[in-house]
Amino acid sequence: MKFFVRTFGCQMNENDSEHIGGMLVRAGATRASTAEDADVIIVNTCAVRAKSEEKLSSYLGRLSSLKKKRPVLIGVAGCVAQVRRHDLLKKRPFVDFVIGPDNYLEIPAILERAAAAGPVIETGRSREWREFGRAETLRESPTSAFVTVMEGCDNFCAYCVVPFSRGREKFRPFESVVREAGDLAAAGYREIQLLGQNVNSYRDPATGCGFADLLDAVAAVPGLAWVRFLTSHPKNFGDDIIGAMARNPKVCRSLHLPIQSGSTDVLERMNRGYSREGYLALIERIRAHVPGILLNTDIIVGFPGETEADFEATCDALRRVRYAGIFSFRYSPRPLTAAARMADDVPLEVKRRRLLVLQGLQKTIQTEINASFVGHELEVLCAGPSPKGAGRMAGRTEGNLVVNFPAPAEAAGRFVTVRITGSGPYSLHGELAG
Ligand code: SAH
Ligand code: SF4
Repeated sequence: MKFFVRTFGCQMNENDSEHIGGMLVRAGATRASTAEDADVIIVNTCAVRAKSEEKLSSYLGRLSSLKKKRPVLIGVAGCVAQVRRHDLLKKRPFVDFVIGPDNYLEIPAILERAAAAGPVIETGRSREWREFGRAETLRESPTSAFVTVMEGCDNFCAYCVVPFSRGREKFRPFESVVREAGDLAAAGYREIQLLGQNVNSYRDPATGCGFADLLDAVAAVPGLAWVRFLTSHPKNFGDDIIGAMARNPKVCRSLHLPIQSGSTDVLERMNRGYSREGYLALIERIRAHVPGILLNTDIIVGFPGETEADFEATCDALRRVRYAGIFSFRYSPRPLTAAARMADDVPLEVKRRRLLVLQGLQKTIQTEINASFVGHELEVLCAGPSPKGAGRMAGRTEGNLVVNFPAPAEAAGRFVTVRITGSGPYSLHGELAG
């Protein structure tokens, strides 16, 4: 049996797909290089924005035509599977199985059942952390590995479907995280990224040790060079975590800290649990203790009731913080959320204009930040060939900036020093130093 997994959405979905792939290989299946070549196609889905579901729709359309040509089992996994369940099967009768994020351990059995007598729906919830087998991860990168440390979210931000798709917070045992980090280091991985919807609320289920302790323990694993983590919530980003970043040089000087809006009014309606002033003060504390840190963020424009003044407050926050990068989105109502019951009253063309203005402003800021590195020598973890063209490789700096540079293929997976010779809004380029 040949399988193909197509992943939409966040890094946690990517990591889940790596686990799913690993389990299927262990069950005797092989990986197909394209959907066209597979007997089983699993689509791992994202429900976070209307746009993610639209992309999924067109992909499922493609799979439906494929199925008209030859027999193939089609499964939908992930967040859309969890929140749409029966609807999904009603609308897409060609789907053979629907499987929620808490049911991946049963995938081999579900496949058998779906092949014998589909369709199968498995979207039950588990309150407990469920361990994947240790050997069961088919990783995409030989250098940088995802390690999921918690799943789910208890924050219920008004716009967000995640607490419904991923369920309530569940924490992976501390020892299990540290053991996997050790195994990865022994297998040659240089960088790990600790993942969770809300990593800084991490607590070891047995001892209550928090995320700062986890960072200390993972940073102490011999052989690992860089440790990153995402996503953090400003509401509970405590001084203990700032301290752990400051004292562990292996924890990268880079942080993704979603602000969502720069207006306290909007933040309140979003149920974010912090004010504009609180967020800006937190950024100052972080910068004071972790000098040189580069920040990234997520922003939503056009949340219900967002005025021109609210939007201007968000632009002002960008000017103050000077993020190295942002992910920005137009608000879209999501099923089951509190905001879906509010009037979606910012007109589409206003949302579009605000997004363009915001992205234009950010482009100027990050062009300036990137240009400030020209003439510097930066350590880069080389990921592989650059999409920019032949003979060039691409990698990231500790601050998570993308660098393109000419280098031999053997540089892939290694740390190199690059002298930065030029920059643009989205990347740096340079040449190998020394
Ligand atoms: N756990 C993370 C990420 C959640 S989803 C956090 O707490 O920030 C990733 C991003 O998608 C969010 O940060 C938010 O900016 C965006 N997003 C979530 N729901 C959205 C919605 N309904 N409309 C537009 N953007 C949304
Ligand atoms: Fe969604 Fe808010 Fe939880 Fe992030 S913290 S996953 S935005 S509910």
